[in-house]
Amino acid sequence: MSAIFIDHYAALEIPRTAAGEDVRRAFRRLARVHHPDRGGDALRFHEIYTAYRLLSNEDDRARFDRQLVLRHVRSIMGQRKFIHPSRIVVPTTMAALAKRGLLRKQFRGRDRRMHLRVDYDLELPLGDDELKLPLLVPVPVTLRNICPECRGGDTHCPVCNGRGSYKSGGMFRLNIDGGLVTGQIIEIRLQGMRPAPLQYYKKSTIRIKVTRAA
Ligand SMILES: [Zn+2]
Repeated sequence: MSAIFIDHYAALEIPRTAAGEDVRRAFRRLARVHHPDRGGDALRFHEIYTAYRLLSNEDDRARFDRQLVLRHVRSIMGQRKFIHPSRIVVPTTMAALAKRGLLRKQFRGRDRRMHLRVDYDLELPLGDDELKLPLLVPVPVTLRNICPECRGGDTHCPVCNGRGSYKSGGMFRLNIDGGLVTGQIIEIRLQGMRPAPLQYYKKSTIRIKVTRAA
């Protein structure tokens, strides 16, 4: 099996978000320069043509995109220790409230935090060795999605029921370079950041307290 991996997007000199029309345009532009009939390099032309064929086919492109994501994840995990999201603790759960007899009061998030005396959103329990290591921590976040169908402009839209947007769960990839101490609060500022076009983070800041793993 061939171990050589060719990034077809790089071959066509286009971003991974390029539309079908951009793929075609890039191919035509590069073919004019690199076609062997015009004195171009045959290998380079073959690379361009292969990339064009693959990225023009929806199924092939989707399959290739998945390969790219996997390669990316592997390259990150090679350098950073991956902390499974299930290890992250939410300190303001219903269970924590029930323990203090506050469940019936149906506090909102902020009130809950006040009564539980926590000034952070999440806890990240780490072992002593993990405090020193570079880490990759997927942090669960709530996202608000602008309706892709009506972009919020149609009160009769069947996709969003006229709401214009909807909530969904997502992950924020937090990279930590190591050198944490127990009790430290990591603040992620999400203001003005967007995970994707038409997507927003619901909160502007997430505070994560580093605790000692049991
Ligand atoms: Zn809609």
